[in-house]
Amino acid sequence: MSALLEVQALDVYYGEAQALGGVSLEMLKGEITVIVGANGAGKSTLIRTIAGIERARAGRIFFAGRDVTNLDSHEICRLGVGQVAENRQLFPNLTALENLEMGTIARSGHRFKQTLEEVFALFPRLAERRKQLAGTLSGGEQQMLAVGRCLMGRPELMMLDEPSLGLAPKVVQLLLETIQTLNQKGLTVLLVEQNVAASLKIAQRAFVLENGRIILSGTGQGLLHNEAVRRAYLGL
Ligand code: ATP
Repeated sequence: MSALLEVQALDVYYGEAQALGGVSLEMLKGEITVIVGANGAGKSTLIRTIAGIERARAGRIFFAGRDVTNLDSHEICRLGVGQVAENRQLFPNLTALENLEMGTIARSGHRFKQTLEEVFALFPRLAERRKQLAGTLSGGEQQMLAVGRCLMGRPELMMLDEPSLGLAPKVVQLLLETIQTLNQKGLTVLLVEQNVAASLKIAQRAFVLENGRIILSGTGQGLLHNEAVRRAYLGL
């Protein structure tokens, strides 16, 4: 398996405050990678920098062998990196279907009909509610819509930032199962999740981020049984 994403010695700052320092990681094609870390560790910053929203001050990011460091976010999206942001960033006054259509913009409607059918097959609830305004959907439905919109761009890598935030446990379980299903169909996934145990269980590879630095890495199962991880993130 070859690396789909490679982050090398990444430094990111907000003004003079360093958010990421020397972050290096590699994600293999077809794997689910999980980033674990406390509040403020830099998880969102990492995703946002890969997506081209924040700027790297030093270091490099390669996607599918191509240097994408500090490219425009639309360009990175067009190359096949999709992102489901922490706050979902839906258009509340547009319908579910219109939100899904927005997901195709960066990739100019490539295979629109087929992709829409695939998204509706994955989330039948969205098909039922396609004409409903996004802002009136339940939290779980909104998260499905955010994932569905990302999938409309036919990404090769999907990055999700705390997708289960504010969702009921049953909905969280469903969401993680959906992520696994997508992965089994070939999608590579980078996941930041507050449900550390549940996300490590589905991860092939995981990294622990602390104060902007990777302090530990291993397989999902390896970190799940790691003493330091169990104490710091699983309350055991
Ligand atoms: P959380 O789990 O709370 O979302 P996180 O691990 O995603 O946290 P980040 O949001 O990446 O962490 O934040 C990393 C650091 O960068 C924090 O110290 C945060 O205060 C700071 N930071 C994040 N965004 C900005 C910003 N726009 N301006 C200034 N500082 C920021």
